[in-house]
Amino acid sequence: MNNSMYPNLSAHSRVFIDENLSKHTYIRIGGKAKYFIKVGSIIDLKKLLSWVKSKNIPYIILGAGSNVLVDDDGWNGLVISFKDSMNNLQVKQNKIVAGSGVMLPKLSKVAQKHSLAGLEFAIGIPGTLGGALYSNAGISNVDQISKIIKNVTVLRDSKLLTIDLENIKFDYRYSSLKENCEIIVEAELSLSLENQEIIDKKMQCIMQYRKLTQPASTKNAGSIFKNPADLSAGKLIEEANLKGVQIGGAMVSSKHSNFIVNEKNATAKDVADLMMIIQNKVYENTGILLQPEVEWLGNKKIPNIFQ
Ligand SMILES: Cc1cc2nc3c(=O)[nH]c(=O)nc-3n(C[C@H](O)[C@H](O)[C@H](O)COP(=O)(O)OP(=O)(O)OC[C@H]3O[C@@H](n4cnc5c(N)ncnc54)[C@H](O)[C@@H]3O)c2cc1C
Repeated sequence: MNNSMYPNLSAHSRVFIDENLSKHTYIRIGGKAKYFIKVGSIIDLKKLLSWVKSKNIPYIILGAGSNVLVDDDGWNGLVISFKDSMNNLQVKQNKIVAGSGVMLPKLSKVAQKHSLAGLEFAIGIPGTLGGALYSNAGISNVDQISKIIKNVTVLRDSKLLTIDLENIKFDYRYSSLKENCEIIVEAELSLSLENQEIIDKKMQCIMQYRKLTQPASTKNAGSIFKNPADLSAGKLIEEANLKGVQIGGAMVSSKHSNFIVNEKNATAKDVADLMMIIQNKVYENTGILLQPEVEWLGNKKIPNIFQ
């Protein structure tokens, strides 16, 4: 593999060939990507997109990899990584303009330092701003990213386009940005002025609750299934007696049943098989068909649970 195979990029971008994607997912699962590029500028991003188009190479965007299950066979194409890049950040009065690669806990802390409330919910979510916008991340109907967005800038047909909030549909773990396969590069957030200590207290409460209820310091992908309307997926899984159930190296967390932890060198197949068992058992018990919250990423055979 030599450099002439991909476009000449600036020093801000970094290219990795045959990169192990398990290094870039929170659950530490996933095969190799043929090309893995940490893109450092819009110009480089445009170059990469026109290259993949001309060569017919499949590509995907990856944030912090905290909401994905990557195929054991990896990704035969280009992964454009935004984490630790595309991370511009400016605070102007009660507004924050941030690149989509900025991590949510960092955003939350910056807002607190500037006495800006609205981002407390993001303190314990280990994803990027882009990933959060893609799925409308949040912790409740009130505390979610769509509630503080003013506009989102995407790269469409090689042009930057700023879309105002009223032109984006958001719902529970849904945004129209996802449906339209937008490449999110930046967003403007609108926050409210508040006492720093009050913001800090809220952030601490959120973190304490997470530590109590979630399997901290394990390899996982956050909530595996979406909550059905007015119900908790975790409770349904617990009631189906699935806590601690294990397939290969993947296990239903004994702390939070809607988390699958990578106990011991789990594969994506172990996780997908365990998800299928959960879905079937909960359906048998309740007639409710749980839907995955985590996204499948791979270009070979898609496991049934994600179809
Ligand atoms: C321990 C833990 C706790 C969690 N808690 C929560 C929680 O409380 N609430 C919640 O909502 N989620 C939670 N999550 C899930 C996850 O952190 C969020 O969904 C987060 O917003 C995903 O961001 P990411 O950068 O990791 O996205 P990734 O996992 O990298 O990607 C997810 C999807 O977004 C797409 N994407 C990412 N960036 C872009 C971009 N710039 N442009 C276009 N598409 C993009 C990817 O292609 C992929 O399809 C948790 C996860 C973990 C591991």
